[in-house]
Amino acid sequence: MKIHAIETGKVKITKNWRIGRGNGLKRFKNTLFDSEFTEWLPIYVWVIEHPEGLIVIDTGIPVDANKRIWFPPFMPLVQRAAKFKMTPEQEVGSQLRQLGLSPNDVRWVVLTHLHQDHDGGLHHFPNAEFVVSFKEWEMAAGIKGRMNGYLNQRWPDWFKPRFVDFDSQKPFGPFTGHHTLTQAGDIHLVPTPGHSPGHLSVILVEDDLMSILFAGDASYTEELLIEQKADGIGADPDVQQETHRKILKYAEQHHTVYLPSHDPGAKERLENRIPINKDLELEAQAV
Ligand SMILES: [Zn+2]
Repeated sequence: MKIHAIETGKVKITKNWRIGRGNGLKRFKNTLFDSEFTEWLPIYVWVIEHPEGLIVIDTGIPVDANKRIWFPPFMPLVQRAAKFKMTPEQEVGSQLRQLGLSPNDVRWVVLTHLHQDHDGGLHHFPNAEFVVSFKEWEMAAGIKGRMNGYLNQRWPDWFKPRFVDFDSQKPFGPFTGHHTLTQAGDIHLVPTPGHSPGHLSVILVEDDLMSILFAGDASYTEELLIEQKADGIGADPDVQQETHRKILKYAEQHHTVYLPSHDPGAKERLENRIPINKDLELEAQAV
């Protein structure tokens, strides 16, 4: 199965956003007011050429993402702490066409969560079925969603995703629920809350020996997963670290290529099928 990594632009966040510092409101303040920034990080979209149809995981950043937003009142602070760099040609639609694929042929778009660097390209896929966790939708939709910092005013009017409610589903390995997307039974959505409350990840079981885990922002990099470092934007770092432990547990049981959306090393690991580095994991446990 062909899998493509499409970089739709770059993002730079404060260092305290990448690795959270402090607790509660203090943690949020440290994230927003930090004057030090990370290097530019990629914003990946993943495309699977599945026999049952094209599957797109997340949709990247829109070209107008740096445009000022004044509601809710903390938005300018969020925008100061997360900056984006992209061109119109980098939007996911044109890059798909460059690969010889048509956005109109996409069957499913799975959204790991509804932050703007993941839902910014919805308008490219008018024919697709969108899949999102019910919990994420509850947090992100309507006026409550706007208050939570979600930019749902940018969603196309026709955006009506299918919801996955993990609470009513059977576990999948260490994960508390799952939803199998394909008839072939090789693609599973699992809850990976923390970065956002309804965050999900996608697991493609390639064969008995290899799984590919499309992690969204479950952690920003593989290293941060292994070190179990929660970011500075998720509401509850404990929930995120619990997710990290579950992913690591899954990776103990299956060779797992781990692909966060903003990990500079992710594309190479995908192309060479490099699973989560066990040595690093042992190192982290020994500390
Ligand atoms: Zn995010």
